[in-house]
This record gives sequence, C-alpha cells and structure tokens, in this order.
Amino acid sequence: MKENTIAKQLSIATEKLKAAGIENARLDAEVLLAYVLNTRRLALYVHVAKVLEEEQITRYHNLIKRRLERIPVAYLTGHKEFMGLNFAVTPDVLIPRPDTEVLAQGVIEHLHEFNRENLKIADLGVGSGAICISILKFVENVTAEAVDISQKAIEIAQFNAQKFNVDDRINFYAGNLFEPLEGKIFDVIVSNPPYVTTEDFENLQPEIETEPKLALDGGADGLNFYRKIIETAPKFLADDGFLAMEIGFNQSHSVQKLLKENGNFNYIQVWKDLAGIERVIAAWKN
Ligand code: GLN
Repeated sequence: MKENTIAKQLSIATEKLKAAGIENARLDAEVLLAYVLNTRRLALYVHVAKVLEEEQITRYHNLIKRRLERIPVAYLTGHKEFMGLNFAVTPDVLIPRPDTEVLAQGVIEHLHEFNRENLKIADLGVGSGAICISILKFVENVTAEAVDISQKAIEIAQFNAQKFNVDDRINFYAGNLFEPLEGKIFDVIVSNPPYVTTEDFENLQPEIETEPKLALDGGADGLNFYRKIIETAPKFLADDGFLAMEIGFNQSHSVQKLLKENGNFNYIQVWKDLAGIERVIAAWKN
C-alpha cells in the first residue's frame, strides 16, 4: 500500500494515537483527516485510495502530533457538535459534552408546557453557549440572558449566537452568576456549573487539563456553585418557573438535599443520561 493514501495515513495515525493510550484513536484520526481535507468523515471511506498532497500530509502530521500532546480534537478543529449544531470552541471554553444534551433537551421539552408567549431563560456560566443557544434554536418564543465570569467565553458564545441566528434573542453579561441579572424574573434558569471536586481534579484525563479550570473546579466537595445558585435562584424565578442544573455522577443526593433545605422548591425531577447516570436536577418553585 502506498504511504500517502488516505487509507495508509489513517492507519499510521491510528496506531500512533493508540500507542499513546488515546481512547478513540481511529475516530480521532478520521476526524482530524476530514478536517485537513475539509470534508465529512464518512467521505474518507469513499476515497480510501486517494493520494494526499505533501502539504496535506504535513498539516495532518502536525495535528496528530498535537493530539499526542493530549490536546482535545475539538480544540484542534475549533468545533464541537452539540444538539446537531456545530459550535465553535477554543480553549477559553469547556468543550460541550454529549451528556449535557440531556439538560438542553429536557429544558426544551418542559418549555413547551408553559402556557404563555415570550418565555425568559437565564444561563449561568454560558461558556460556548451550547446549552442556551440550542434551546433558543429549538424553541422560538424564548429569549435568554446569558452570564459568564469569563469575557473570552462570552466572545465565543456571541460568535455562536450569530452563527446560529439567535443573537437578536440573547443578551450577554460578564459577571458572577446572578449579579448582572438583578431585578429580572425567569421562567427557567439553566446551568452547567463547575462541579469537579478539588481531589478529582488531580486524577482527570490529561485532556481536561487543557480546558479552563474556571469551568470545572467546584471546590473541595464540588458543590460550591450549587450552594450559591440554589440560595439565590428563588428570587429570580417566576412562580411556576424551574431551575435545571447538570450535576456530577455522584452529586444527585447532595444537590437534592440542598434544594430541600432551601425550602423554596416544591417539586424535584432527576433526568438521567444515556448511561443511566443521574445527570440533571430540575426543581420547580411550585
Ligand atoms: N462533565 C465535565 C467533566 O467531568 C465537568 C463539567 C463541569 O464541571 N460542569 O469532565
């Protein structure tokens, strides 16, 4: 087999990634080659015997080298798909995870239950905008206020809001949680706050070290942001409104306890991810 065909280059790259202990080696090799060739991943299979140009091979090798340094594929290509939408991402934002679609999807379903026009949502820690923007994209009568402590994250989210044509229905604020939203009332408050415990942070996959710590670090017990959000949310929620938050794999009990202790939430639902893990807690004021 010729060294510079698509098939050969893919298999060489896959072996290198595998040898370095990278989990989805073949998938990563394909996504990166499709990126270099500006084509769809599956299109590679139609052209396996195609001979690549020197310049394409050089660019591909450079990307594989950076992937071997444990830079996530999404940061290398600058994109990550979420809810069927291709979001722009940089190392200034957390890469949207498939599990987080449970949060976006659940909120979308429950938004249809409100019996009024012009619904308002808040997204605390908007990051790339994946959650909030996909909600706006799939539900028309909604406007959003999105907050992030990182100005750079807001710039990415703004870019994505324009990309998906929802920028006229979303306002962005650089600030801390509810701080910039004083006086506003929301039908739904969503958040995927930082929830990784300080201890777990030490044992994460090397890729996660390339993501913003600001978006991951939930303090000693991982619950810092749930405490703050739950304490303040009732003041910002409509009487029939709800709060929906992503949680870590073992935080369901603790977060439900915080909600019950708060006393302002009368009904709680837990939404599971595809692996059956309790991934989202939704809590209604009434
Ligand atoms: N799901 C992320 C992880 O464990 C954490 C996201 C978060 O802290 N909100 O990698």
